[in-house]
Amino acid sequence: RDDLRGREPYGAPQLDVAVRLNTNENPYPPSPRLVKALGEAVAEVAGSLNRYPDRDAVALRADLADFLNADTPGAGLTAERVWAANGSNEIIQQILQAFGGPGRRALGFEPSYSMHPIITHVSGTAWIDAQRDEDFGLDPERAVAAVEAHRPDIVFLTSPNNPTGTALPPEAIEAILEVAPGMVVVDEAYGEFRREDTLSSLELLPDHPRLIVTRTMSKAFAMAGTRLGYLAADPAVIEALLLVRLPYHLSAVTQAVARTALAHSEELLGTVDTLRHERDLLVGWLRSQGLRVADSDANFVLFGTFADRRRVWRAVLDQGVLIREVGPPEWLRVSIGTSEETATFRSALTTALKEAQ
Ligand code: PLP
Repeated sequence: RDDLRGREPYGAPQLDVAVRLNTNENPYPPSPRLVKALGEAVAEVAGSLNRYPDRDAVALRADLADFLNADTPGAGLTAERVWAANGSNEIIQQILQAFGGPGRRALGFEPSYSMHPIITHVSGTAWIDAQRDEDFGLDPERAVAAVEAHRPDIVFLTSPNNPTGTALPPEAIEAILEVAPGMVVVDEAYGEFRREDTLSSLELLPDHPRLIVTRTMSKAFAMAGTRLGYLAADPAVIEALLLVRLPYHLSAVTQAVARTALAHSEELLGTVDTLRHERDLLVGWLRSQGLRVADSDANFVLFGTFADRRRVWRAVLDQGVLIREVGPPEWLRVSIGTSEETATFRSALTTALKEAQ
């Protein structure tokens, strides 16, 4: 295919270094108690792995609906309004297969999550680059003007946004929903990290049948290896996704592991406060070094600005800490690790900044 020529496969470095702070994973592995429960859940399905899994993942979707209702009273979710796939990347792919395609357009506000435009292109959908504000926020009037000007079939919003960490004001999401002619996807991969006083888009679902809210177990839930993403939307949206998904896309093992993780959600999400606290300390420290730092409601921080970010990134890596070159050209992103990992990063960056002088 001509439009794939010259493209690179997805390639966040997976280097074997001591401190990996480049893909916004949760640094805390499952506790021994949870490892035991996960093992038992896998053993329970192992005896019937000769059979295909429940292709509609009904029990898992019911558990997800219960979890989301507890998280956001008023969301009014049931299994019919929730869908799951192998990571929210597959969720995004299915959304584009169902609502995009040749002749259709998707719009996003840059800088944002790079896979939105990439999966859009691969699905044959045209991508429209609108821009976030200077401070990486999204002014509702400007956002509405962009949507009215381009009339896209799909609008992608990310809140909190990757790579900037910025949470969207609810007014911006509601204003866009009022004018968007097609689907509005709010990617809340980092939704659990947002400030408690901010709205989750889940609250808007009952009044907006064209809204899709996506979440993942890869970040706050500390289950990136499981590959479980999910969404909440109108049942008609899920009926459309049923038409494009591959048969039996979610393995029985994935479903069992995800259900067990949900049953232990309190324990897993117990790390969120620790990570938020660590993030706020890091933001304060980066600012005290005279660096610019984007406000973050997520488990990572975008900081800069560097005339040659590659040099700083490399100098930090030379000391065994992997961070990410992503976002606007002068900025770098660091994921929040354990307090020991963050301390190692601070000292690596201090050395790197001295070398760069
Ligand atoms: N959405 C955003 C904004 C992300 O940052 C990521 C991962 O970094 C994803 C979606 C994909 O997550 P996963 O496919 O692991 O659920």
